[in-house]
Amino acid sequence: MTNWPVHAAWNGPIVMIGFGSIGRGTLPLILRHIKCDPKLITVIDPDASRSQLVEKLGASFVKQAITRKNYRQVLKPFLTAGPGQAFIVNLSVDVDSLDIMRLARETHALYIDTVIEPWPGFYYNTKMSQGDRTNYAMREHMLALKKALGPGPTAVSCCGANPGMVSWFVKQALMDIAKATKTKVAEPTTREGWAKLMKKLGVKGIHVAERDTQRTKEPKPFGTFVNTWSVEGFISEGLQPAELGWGTHEKKLPPKGKRHKSGCGAAIYIETPGADTRVRTWTPTEGPHFGFLVTHNEAISISDYFTVRSGRKVTYRPTCHYAYHPSNDAVLSWVEMLGNGGKHPKDFYVLDENQIADGRDELGVLLYGHKKNAYWYGSQLSIEEARKLAPHNSATGLQVSSAVLTGMIWAIENPLSGIVETDEMDYKRCLQIQTPYLGPVRGVYTGWTPLDSVVELFANDLDRKDPWQFQNILVR
Ligand code: NAD
Repeated sequence: MTNWPVHAAWNGPIVMIGFGSIGRGTLPLILRHIKCDPKLITVIDPDASRSQLVEKLGASFVKQAITRKNYRQVLKPFLTAGPGQAFIVNLSVDVDSLDIMRLARETHALYIDTVIEPWPGFYYNTKMSQGDRTNYAMREHMLALKKALGPGPTAVSCCGANPGMVSWFVKQALMDIAKATKTKVAEPTTREGWAKLMKKLGVKGIHVAERDTQRTKEPKPFGTFVNTWSVEGFISEGLQPAELGWGTHEKKLPPKGKRHKSGCGAAIYIETPGADTRVRTWTPTEGPHFGFLVTHNEAISISDYFTVRSGRKVTYRPTCHYAYHPSNDAVLSWVEMLGNGGKHPKDFYVLDENQIADGRDELGVLLYGHKKNAYWYGSQLSIEEARKLAPHNSATGLQVSSAVLTGMIWAIENPLSGIVETDEMDYKRCLQIQTPYLGPVRGVYTGWTPLDSVVELFANDLDRKDPWQFQNILVR
């Protein structure tokens, strides 16, 4: 496509914090789809090795780490320089999302990020309890801030591919299943309406089922951690406890499974690292395979969003979790790292689009337990297509950067929504903006259940009557 649509206009400053794999992919998309003056765009990152990419696009680069101590002093002048309202695009690691959201509110700026990121000292803090190191805990802090700040300029929380885009896929998948099962429903317009629809369709749970088949041109060196997106981000979340939204149909907590004592109650955590916790899952091309149960915000927000209550009693909630088979090199990186006591590797790098030989990122939602058994809906973007569609993006990167772009456009169109999660956004509008960047977007029904992936020679502690119990999904 050469006639790319301009979806929105922005007259104020845009401040991008972090220029890693996602920042580099997002900046050209902003300039392509949002009418704005590149001279009003500032990118801030302590690593200046790619600053020329920023300057080539007419924007400014500032070499600086944003810290707990300096964030106000560094960011405020950019946010208040005018003309008009600023937009903060937080695509960094180690910069606290909630503090930046507070600053955004104070300065009347719009805000977007792709994860709830803490300041350094959270992820690897051995003094904190496992429950406090969860995404559940971080999301509860975000929900408390949402309540405290109330209505005001829009701040979109966790708007990447996942968390982010997959929440829009869930709604599309529900409408598809309703149609396929001839369930007469008007499209819901409220959270309660969506939750009731999911309950009515008999969905027991959702895997955010991702199989990244991108392969490298050069084999990974021993002891070096390689990934198709942030290595630092992946290591942080992979060493948090595994977490999942916990459905009302589940009969048995998994071994080492723990409930939280406060908060929305939508999720549990397992006291094993997510990157060392495997689940049985399914995607269309690969078919059955193992995924890592790495904690992700969407596992909790989706389960929470689709909860049905009668008074205060929860009458329905789906199970929801990530089931991630990263690129082969990333799997190998984890095997080496966990075999070495989880010590951080000395060397690591994020693959850029030129280092990848072939493959695609098949990322979707697998809704299971309903009349048609299971339905996967998602993106099957290949590296070749990603290269053609936009500069500086692998297939993984483009699924994320196009979601950031989409969230920015939605925020400009809905500028006074306060803090929002992607589950609360208009999924149709969002998918309309994002789909041109996702390669084939397909829905596929499957008769597969986790029991089909059990090695019968070692089968024990299974629930054969209810294939979709989490005890059948977890690999032990
Ligand atoms: P990356 O590791 O490639 O880049 C991170 C960048 O942040 C680096 O350039 C680094 O120098 C910069 N940085 C580090 N400390 C900083 C500081 N104190 N101040 C400013 N910048 C700092 O990561 P990425 O792949 O670009 O990912 C960016 C963020 O997006 C991460 O938080 C990651 O977890 C998240 N992410 C979300 C999704 C999703 O689908 N929701 C997907 C991929 C990545």
